[in-house]
Formats: sequence, C-alpha cells, structure tokens
Amino acid sequence: MVANTEMKNNNNLLYGGIEGGGTKFVCAVGTDPNNILAEARFPTTTPEETMAQAVDFFKQQESSLGKLASIGFACFGPLDPNPDSKTYGHILPTPKPHWTNANVVGMLRSAFDIPIAFDTDVNGAALGEWNWGKGQGLNTFIYLTIGTGIGGGAYVEGKLLHGLLHPEMGHIPVPHDKTKDPFEGACPFHGDCFEGLASGVAIEKRWGVHGGSLPPEHPAWDLEVEYIANALAIYSYTISPQRIIIGGGVGQSSHLLPRIQQYTRDLINGYIKSAAIVEDIENYIVNPGLGNLSGVLGALALAKQALAQN
Ligand code: ZN
Repeated sequence: MVANTEMKNNNNLLYGGIEGGGTKFVCAVGTDPNNILAEARFPTTTPEETMAQAVDFFKQQESSLGKLASIGFACFGPLDPNPDSKTYGHILPTPKPHWTNANVVGMLRSAFDIPIAFDTDVNGAALGEWNWGKGQGLNTFIYLTIGTGIGGGAYVEGKLLHGLLHPEMGHIPVPHDKTKDPFEGACPFHGDCFEGLASGVAIEKRWGVHGGSLPPEHPAWDLEVEYIANALAIYSYTISPQRIIIGGGVGQSSHLLPRIQQYTRDLINGYIKSAAIVEDIENYIVNPGLGNLSGVLGALALAKQALAQN
C-alpha cells in the first residue's frame, strides 16, 4: 500500500489548490482525489483577509507536510488569466464589493516562490474532470456550473480555452418569451441573459423562494429546463463538445438532468449527426464525476499543470 501511494504521489510532490468562490474559499493540499491531506473552508470577505487566510493555511500545512511544489488557484471571475498581460492575476471589474482589480495572484506570490496557476473556477473544474472525472479521454468538452451564478469552462482540442480572457458562457442571450415568463432577469449587466434568467439568484427573485424549496413539479423547473437546453444547444453548435458536464447546486438537481437531456436533443432535432446526441444523450449531458469536489480538485489539477509547464 505504501509503495502504491508513493507512486501515485509522483515522487511525493505536494500541491496546493484554492477554489475561490463568491461566497466561500476552499483550500486543499494533496495530489489527487484519493490523497487530500488537508482542507480548509472559510467565507469570502475582502481580498486581503481571504487571501491571508489561504496563505496561512498553506504555510501551516508546509510546516507539517513539507514544501508545496506549486499552487493552483481556480477563482470566480471575471479575471485576467493571461501571463503576458499587465493585469495578470487580477480580478476584473465585478459587482462583488472589494474585489475589483484585486491582485490576488500577487498576494500569493509575495508569500510563495513556486509556480502558481490562475484560471477561472470553471476552467479549473473542467481540468479536474479531465484528469479524474467525466472528461477523461476527451479532447473537447464543456464544464458548466449552474448555481448562484452560471459559468462555463471549455477544454478544446487538448487544452483549456482562454482566447481574449476566458469564456463567459453564462451571459449568452437565450430565447425569452415574456408572455410566458415576464421576469425581467437578474443580471446587472444584461438583464435577461442566460444567467439572468436561470441562475439560482434568478429563480429566487422570480418566485420569492430559494430553488431548493420548490418541488420538481413546480413550473419554475419548466422554465429552467427550457433556458438550460437552449444554452446547451448553442454550445453544441458553436464549440462542438464531445460532452457537456453540468455541475452546481441547480445543475445537479437529479430531477432536472433527464429533462434537460431530452429537451436539448429535441431542440437540436437531429441536425448534429452524431450518435452521442441522437442515440446517447444520457452520456452527452452528464453531472460531474467529482461531484462537488470538481472545483478544489480542479485547482490541484491546475497546480500539477503549472509545474509540468514550468
Ligand atoms: Zn449577463
């Protein structure tokens, strides 16, 4: 057993991972899903306080477990992931108080002289799923989270997609029939974009209660299925993913998945001539293999990748 664990540890290198969410941070030290040696969770407050807590956690772990080889930071966005940019490692303008222009990678760099990878939470989760979950063996797929907000990461032709900054899959326009759904939308930038209509925040604003307390037969879910399926059809047409993985609190509601699969297949209506959609939609649109750990394991995967690229 000991030898086996050591082999898995890749010469006993230890990685740090940070899943930076809008409401909480999750930090972990380990190597893979079977070897998480320490974990901490704390609320997201100001960048200074929250990043200091992350630094303290890793310093404490280093004193007992040994030095970290690299750190992966999968963070809420928008953010600048381009190492050649002047604002690399910063959070970009966000409605979240205190975080606009915060140099979060700089705060880590001042404490650790090791490779640090920085990407969106959803790109991180996609990499985690590629390493250990439902993205294994694929070279193009999407990881979408539908929770408080909506965001998507893309792994395209063997690497994470960045382009200008990073994809913003939550903010695409989706068909909105205002006679059926007069809700004006909850996005501060666009009103009734996909996130504005279908996020957990949108559900709560539209119906006055948290989505978790609405039963499966509630009409809220008819709208939800329709908006999600329209978005998935758009991603299928534009990125041609081999699979779409849906995580997040809303996205992992068990009663939704079969309805989303069927609705998406019906919308595409046979146009994408692939057995994956026509005959095997249950394996085309799936929930994460890593469940709620996609994020923090994704951060560890980013850390491993940072070391490999360094
Ligand atoms: Zn929007």
